[in-house]
Amino acid sequence: MRKAFICGNWKMFKTPGETVALVRELRAKLNESASVEVGIAPPFTSLAAARQALLGSHLRLAGQNCHWEAQGTFTGEVSAPMLKEVGCDSVIVGHSERRQHFGETDEAVNRRARAALESGLTPIVCLGETLAEREAGRTLDVVSRQIRACLAGFSPAQVEALVVAYEPVWAIGTGRVATPAQAQEVHQALRGWISDLAGRAVADKVRIQYGGSVKPDNAAELLALPDVDGALVGGASLKADDFARIVAAARRR
Ligand code: PEP
Repeated sequence: MRKAFICGNWKMFKTPGETVALVRELRAKLNESASVEVGIAPPFTSLAAARQALLGSHLRLAGQNCHWEAQGTFTGEVSAPMLKEVGCDSVIVGHSERRQHFGETDEAVNRRARAALESGLTPIVCLGETLAEREAGRTLDVVSRQIRACLAGFSPAQVEALVVAYEPVWAIGTGRVATPAQAQEVHQALRGWISDLAGRAVADKVRIQYGGSVKPDNAAELLALPDVDGALVGGASLKADDFARIVAAARRR
């Protein structure tokens, strides 16, 4: 049985002060238990404040991206060792907003994920099709290409150490969520491709999160699907009450 992992992607929201307030509110509402892993990914500038506010908590702390080099002349970038030292244990890579607005490619996602693994961070590798790709019937082709490119050259142990997030682009921030059948179809296919890359035993252990307009009222049915092992939550993770209700749904699955 794979343990559910619910991670909140705060995107470009919350100053350090606002972060402390939201972490406090979350800790009060979450009712932490070992049955579900829960994490938050605040902006880089809020990570140190979040780590401080999380003292004594089991909540995981994630960056929203990392560079593939440990240091260098890469203005505006942050490296995996930097995230590690500030107290992160995981990092989102390949989010569709990075792909859409900042030209992120699968090859870059592969390098970022590899760097994260080498620094002992859990990469949350995001992928998913656009609306045009879904409407053209190309979803499985697109996602298959993405997972193969993002994980190319990884050892089975490296694959086992990462998390995949299936996030259909048309569902992110739109309020339009994948149906359970749509989500399960892609998650099951992803597990098959992961098996091709790293073997069945590894594929059975890798967590595949669903992301895209997950809310308290749709979380339970998505999280109950056999190949959905958690969620990457954007908008709803900025509201302590909503996020706590999504975590509670994961606990009941
Ligand atoms: C996300 O940012 O990864 C996401 C899934 O956003 P939302 O939940 O707002 O659709």
